[in-house]
Amino acid sequence: MLETKNITVTYNNTIEALKEISLEVPPGNIYGIIGPNGAGKSTLIKAMLDLLPHSGYTLYNDKPIKTQRKNLSYVEQKSNIDTTFPMKVIDCVILGIFPTLNPLQRPGKHAKQKAEEALKKVNMYDYRNRQISDLSGGQFQRILIARTIIQDADLVFLDEPFVGIDITSENIIIKLLKEMARQGRTILIVHHDLSKVNKYFDGLILLNKSLIAYGATSDVFTGEHIKRAFGSEILVSSEQGGADNDSAIRE
Ligand code: ADP
Ligand code: MG
Repeated sequence: MLETKNITVTYNNTIEALKEISLEVPPGNIYGIIGPNGAGKSTLIKAMLDLLPHSGYTLYNDKPIKTQRKNLSYVEQKSNIDTTFPMKVIDCVILGIFPTLNPLQRPGKHAKQKAEEALKKVNMYDYRNRQISDLSGGQFQRILIARTIIQDADLVFLDEPFVGIDITSENIIIKLLKEMARQGRTILIVHHDLSKVNKYFDGLILLNKSLIAYGATSDVFTGEHIKRAFGSEILVSSEQGGADNDSAIRE
């Protein structure tokens, strides 16, 4: 069980980005972290992972998350990663294995094999000797997922993995993440597009600085909750996108 208690984050002692967030995520589930721009979604992930100053704490199986580094994988927002760095695809994937090695170990033949298997899973094996700078956004995101796969972590955090990528990559990635969840892992995905919420997530964490609701998607994804989180912004996006079955919000 992943358990967060009373997380509050105040940037520069002035901007209160998150206020007293407490929640639990049971294993074997994919949870979406949902909320408007600036709601504190990325901040929540970073605070849960102890990557920025905060009050409150996060436990995984009753142990502080700090002590679980080898057992967690974090894919940060793509826009924050330098993809022009000269590196071959296969080497980028092999890097994923480093957190699981002891300090004196170097990745060997076995690591390469695992990386190749992971590349096959994301349909990128044929690209293994290309430079990462030559990949499209969706292909690069698939490489990051391959890296997560070989890390073999029980806890997986992804920040906006589907932004700016093609639908083929998105489908491959969500299928693999669902598979990982079915193996008993805990997957948290920051996501701001409401149209696929029902399809993608077993549960939701809905926030806008404070926690609006969390739990099973069917309980959280209601008109009233969404209105409380998004306010008038939701009216704009539904006018633009129109309603279909995927985006049907329960009243
Ligand atoms: P989201 O991911 O939901 O779009 P963020 O977690 O990135 O939101 O940001 C939440 C709030 O905190 C925003 O008002 C943002 O401007 C502010 N913020 C984020 N990072 C910093 C930072 N490093 N310094 C100061 N303010 C920040
Ligand atoms: Mg963000």
